[in-house]
Amino acid sequence: MVDTVVVGAGFAGLYLLHRLRGMGYSAVALESADDVGGTWYWNRYPGARCDIMTVDYSYSWDPDLETEWQWSEKYATQPEILRYLRHVADKHDLRRDIRFSTRVERATWDQPAGCWTIVTSDGNEIRCRYFVMASGCLSVPKAADVDGVDRFRGEVYYTSRWPHQGVDFTGRRVAVIGTGSSGVQSIPLIAGQAAELTVFQRTPNFSRPAKNGPVPEAKLDAYQRDRAAYRASARWTRLGVPVAPIDKGALQVSEQERLANYEAMWESGDLLPPSFPDLVLSEAANETLCEFLRGKIRSIVKDPVTAEALCPKDHYYGTKRPCLDSGYYETFNLPHVRLVDLRATPITSITEDGIETSAATMTFDTIVFATGFDAITGAVVAVDIRGRDGLALAEKWAEGPRNYLGIMSAGFPNLFTITGPGSPSVLSNMAVSIEQHVEWITDCMRHMRERDLTVIEPTATAEDGWVQHVNDFGDLTLYPRAISWYTGANVPGKPRVFLPYVGGVDTYRRVCGEVVSRGYLGFSFDGPAGRRCEDGVICRLQPDVQLMLAMIGRLGLPPMESLDVEGARAMSRSFAAVRPPGPAVGAVVDGVLPGAAGDLGYRLYRPASPGPHPLVVYFHGGGWVLGGADSDDPFCRDLAVRSNAAVISVDYRHAPEARFPAAVDDAFAAVQWIASHAEVLGGRSGRLAVCGWSAGANLAAVVCQLARDAGGPMLSGQLLVAPVTSADFTRRSYADNAEGYVLTRALMQWFWDHYADTAERNDPRAAPLLSRDLSRLPPALVVTCEFDPLRDEGVAYAEALRAAGGDVRHLDCRGQIHTSLMAVDAIMSGASARQEMARALGTFLHAAPVMAAGCQDGRARTGPPSSAA
Ligand code: FAD
Ligand code: NAP
Repeated sequence: MVDTVVVGAGFAGLYLLHRLRGMGYSAVALESADDVGGTWYWNRYPGARCDIMTVDYSYSWDPDLETEWQWSEKYATQPEILRYLRHVADKHDLRRDIRFSTRVERATWDQPAGCWTIVTSDGNEIRCRYFVMASGCLSVPKAADVDGVDRFRGEVYYTSRWPHQGVDFTGRRVAVIGTGSSGVQSIPLIAGQAAELTVFQRTPNFSRPAKNGPVPEAKLDAYQRDRAAYRASARWTRLGVPVAPIDKGALQVSEQERLANYEAMWESGDLLPPSFPDLVLSEAANETLCEFLRGKIRSIVKDPVTAEALCPKDHYYGTKRPCLDSGYYETFNLPHVRLVDLRATPITSITEDGIETSAATMTFDTIVFATGFDAITGAVVAVDIRGRDGLALAEKWAEGPRNYLGIMSAGFPNLFTITGPGSPSVLSNMAVSIEQHVEWITDCMRHMRERDLTVIEPTATAEDGWVQHVNDFGDLTLYPRAISWYTGANVPGKPRVFLPYVGGVDTYRRVCGEVVSRGYLGFSFDGPAGRRCEDGVICRLQPDVQLMLAMIGRLGLPPMESLDVEGARAMSRSFAAVRPPGPAVGAVVDGVLPGAAGDLGYRLYRPASPGPHPLVVYFHGGGWVLGGADSDDPFCRDLAVRSNAAVISVDYRHAPEARFPAAVDDAFAAVQWIASHAEVLGGRSGRLAVCGWSAGANLAAVVCQLARDAGGPMLSGQLLVAPVTSADFTRRSYADNAEGYVLTRALMQWFWDHYADTAERNDPRAAPLLSRDLSRLPPALVVTCEFDPLRDEGVAYAEALRAAGGDVRHLDCRGQIHTSLMAVDAIMSGASARQEMARALGTFLHAAPVMAAGCQDGRARTGPPSSAA
């Protein structure tokens, strides 16, 4: 019995072994290879080297190593990296605890004993408390999925299992299948020896020249000046490499500036140079880089047909792992090298003598498969791992991996995975991510030892929440759209799930730290000290909402309610000045209309399509105190574009200068005027809906009640986004979200205090939820946000409308805050809700308008709806 069994002796296994030993744990590493190195043991093909600069792609945990080991090149070769890992193993005397040529085949959790039984390829059994899969993300070669591989009588090689003695291609006719990083690195060198080289390409990849050589001086300076600081900064970057971020998007800068950045990127020979943040988010932004890179390919490759075939057109840059190369595209200008585009002429079979495509039969002496790996999950599910109650991990993950933090999976106590799915792993400098996992896992073991706990397992709640969060983050980006090994799409039959965590090394490290500081949130522990569990979900906000809040937090602004009214208005205007502008519309027209006590400004947004359009009267948010007809500009634009309706945002008098019911009077007057001037405004008469956000939604709801009672105007629908529907602060959402989500309990109190006297707050024109009659109102969509003090009053309004027989839908926006749905082009996770809102408006406006009951029976009522209070 040992404390820990580690599977693998690559970058991860070696550091883990060293650290466990240092902490006084007994440990054994089991490795199927006959030496250390992992990736760098197996992948010995010509040209194999790292593509993250070696000063970054190396250990940081041994400060002496940093000075005693000098890398010879910017991108070290496979033999040099392997020498380095061997040196580390020897220096720290790690080999004595590694069993080489030993494959782990089975692992079974023994519930009563609280330990794992590991069965290896030599038939031995080892019992251990902790079981760690340091088995690699790219360690299981993808099985050959080309018909007839076994038939070929020539030599067959896999880049991922290259012979140790090397391969001499001199005078040989060689085929290489695959053009990922391994193909791209090896093809120029194979071409240098072979008599003929034919490259079989299914999907062209983006590649840039590595420009290998000495480490760039600036980099070396920064590294040598203060190695510890350099390493520390890498840990808090998005990709695990210190790079100054660019704060503007590719589409926010001039074409000249954009192209200068791309040119610098090309010249840098750096896989991770400073790049525009929207490249991973926006198709249009990414396409500018794709086209730049295609231009480079066309300028290098002389034969235009070959050049075009080498140009990637089916995925966005970065969504398949990009490559760095040394003369890849130039290789296709050599007379003895040709490219076969498998999209045009697929392989039909491998024959005894070569390869047959739909267009030709070719003869080869050697075939090289550079066809990649069963990545990220492959090595984990290759072991028959049985957890509690015999649960098989492969079965649990049959539809895609499920785990917490990418580190542990519910049902599998004391089993850890290093750089597992749901962690930054392959989207980062893996040396940094590996160290972070090793340290987190071993710190966790220490935590348990110090508290007399022996068993740890994530809860189902925590796991579900993490899987959701990983998917939410991925869905914000272009990554999941590509057919790539990131999504498992390269392996036939593998579930298609975006596997890594795209939030970045820094965000992820912060999250892992927060889990610990919150008492190992989401984990249950057991042991002699008893059982304990801090259940919960670590990331509940939508990822982009979380990032926005963090950014606002960094500004260190005073709470709005601590300011005077003018100060609060100025703050609100300053936020509006820096937000994305929203989409272009056909026309924007500013004007005035008569309000209840004087003219009111309006801003009309017309869609680009020919009119007349149905009209939506929009009331801005701002707690009846802030804002104006133009203050929700991006949202109005978005709504107009998505719904193909003209949106007219009207101003109303604000508190405290004009208190309740001034805003209501203006809002109703505006709707009445717009209804009777629809055609003048370019609208379609009789197709009118109302919409509002927050206090504006309060006004929209009240207007619907007033219009019903007044016998008109006829309204087709009401879209209420995060509405204020009462002044009841006792609801749960007020307690849950009192602070931290922009609209606080204190700020809402401040708004009410400015708007209405306490006695007036029960008037249904201030609190539409309190109206005694909620029947015969236009169809409604009520939108609420999970982290909003106003959430529950929105829900209550939807329920009350429904109870009164109304046609009402409620859209609950998971992970959103009060302000986030308004943040068009900034909070992308709100886009689907905005689409849903636009769809609802479309439904309202294309259906017949609701006849107010007063109109139908001719007994129109005027005046305020009666209060239930
Ligand atoms: P590995 O190095 O893969 O080691 C895992 C070990 O576990 C292997 O030796 C394997 O034999 C063993 N193993 C697996 N299953 C079992 C089992 N059941 N029983 C016993 N042993 C088992 N990343 C970067 O960040 N930068 C780069 O430049 C870079 N270049 C790369 C180049 C190539 C050619 C490849 C393939 C990958 C590259 N990577 C790079 C990713 C690379 O895999 C990681 O950086 C890192 O080396 C992974 O270390 P590891 O210890 O986690 O896994
Ligand atoms: P890969 O990126 O998955 O590339 C495999 C290639 O083989 C792809 O072009 C793929 O085409 C093709 N292919 C697979 N099956 C095929 C089939 N049946 N018929 C025809 N073509 C087929 O694998 P890799 O090149 O080994 O690289 C894997 C990862 O390892 C890299 O992305 C990188 O993270 C790491 N790596 C890094 C370096 C480095 O420079 N440091 C070097 C090598 C590897 P499709 O795209 O159409 O599937």
